[in-house]
Amino acid sequence: NGAHRRIVIVGAGLAGVETAAGLLDSGHTGPITLIGDEAGMPYQRPPLSKDFLAGSGPRGIRPDDFFDRIDFRAGHRVRSIDRPARTVTLDDGSTVSYSRLVLATGSRNRVLDIPGIDADGVHSLRTDREAETLARRLDVGGSAIVVGAGFIGLEFAASARARGLDVTVLEFTDRAMARVVSPIVSDYFAAAHRRAGTSLRFGEGITAIARRPGDSGLMVTTTVGAELSADFVVIGAGAVPNDDLARRCGLTVDGGIVVDDYLTTSDPEIMAVGDCANFPSRFAARAVGDTEAVRIRLESEQNATDQGRYAGRRLSSGDDGPYRDVPWFWTHQAAEKLYIAGIPQGGDECVVRGDPASGSFSVVDFRGGRLAAVESVNMPADHVAARKILSAGWTVSPAEAADLGFDLKAHGKAAGKAAKASK
Ligand code: FAD
Repeated sequence: NGAHRRIVIVGAGLAGVETAAGLLDSGHTGPITLIGDEAGMPYQRPPLSKDFLAGSGPRGIRPDDFFDRIDFRAGHRVRSIDRPARTVTLDDGSTVSYSRLVLATGSRNRVLDIPGIDADGVHSLRTDREAETLARRLDVGGSAIVVGAGFIGLEFAASARARGLDVTVLEFTDRAMARVVSPIVSDYFAAAHRRAGTSLRFGEGITAIARRPGDSGLMVTTTVGAELSADFVVIGAGAVPNDDLARRCGLTVDGGIVVDDYLTTSDPEIMAVGDCANFPSRFAARAVGDTEAVRIRLESEQNATDQGRYAGRRLSSGDDGPYRDVPWFWTHQAAEKLYIAGIPQGGDECVVRGDPASGSFSVVDFRGGRLAAVESVNMPADHVAARKILSAGWTVSPAEAADLGFDLKAHGKAAGKAAKASK
């Protein structure tokens, strides 16, 4: 039992804060220091591309008084880790010693290496400050070019379009959210954005940005040689893990901080959680039930929350089992709501439940004949059932999944009950 240990958490995003919450909820009595380089209280990122741009204001991760219970140091960057001495050094030169360390350093936006990327009027969206700048920009109106039809790019596009801006999205690949959703879901979302009046250009990337002669606008050159004009540009070209701190202190790093089934790094005294962690997941395996899990790094609210809470529990009370929570993801784009349970990877078989033309349906992925992932478009009940079925290690047959008469909800309920009973 490690309830008395001195725990230091680096990074005060969702994963870092939920690590602290997991510790406190498990009865941790030792000192907890949470160090984050952003100013102010920890906030939720998902609303920044959605409600926040419609004027909702920021949303905190935990109420302010939660942070009275820990040693929270906002606005401080951890510069280095001395593993033999078990200390971290902050940007002001001070050091903090730890018994166990948790790295929750998250990810940052990928910066495109193209001329003009630093020009005024080129924005990215990850922090509250960037979202505030963009919210002010939306108040002005005009036209925007969004680079990248991933989740954040499309969420921003929907928010900007809802505020009446002219929006053009450039996407290098041939479909929306190509990295994570099935072609059917890509097509459904592309059609919805087009109906809303957003121009989507697939198979077209950006090669340069320049000032528009005569005013403060921008000219964008694309891979097919087109020249497009806009008042501002938003880059949504994906994220890269913040793993440099780990690399510099000699931890194993490979597209994220490499951890084992227990979210422990190559140093048994250091864990890594959330966007920065590269972990083995049986949900990423080719066939569910494979003994060999596949390494993956996930950028989602679920992953940051559940891994953080797992780390807190494990460090405090020595939680026994490996980390196994079902990955799930959500995105809202205008009125369309997509929920994903599991990790869709274009399995060997895929069936559609319901009719996309009706505006609500699910795409169900199978690997090795077993349920692997469910993408639910405006079908929240399917999503909830899928999470329970995947979590219990149950499955459905492709024929059952395709049959709207098959009661997926009841099957999910039974799976949930069975999983609880076996605990
Ligand atoms: P982060 O939130 O990146 O937090 C890490 C923190 O550590 C940062 O504050 C960083 O500055 C700090 N840090 C890094 N290095 C140091 C250091 N050396 N010293 C001190 N501090 C350091 N997910 C969903 O599931 N659904 C959504 O709809 C959704 N929408 C999103 C919309 C936007 C605009 C963004 C940006 C993300 C969205 N996500 C969504 C993803 C989700 O928000 C992230 O996966 C999650 O917040 C990751 O949490 P984290 O704590 O791992 O990392």
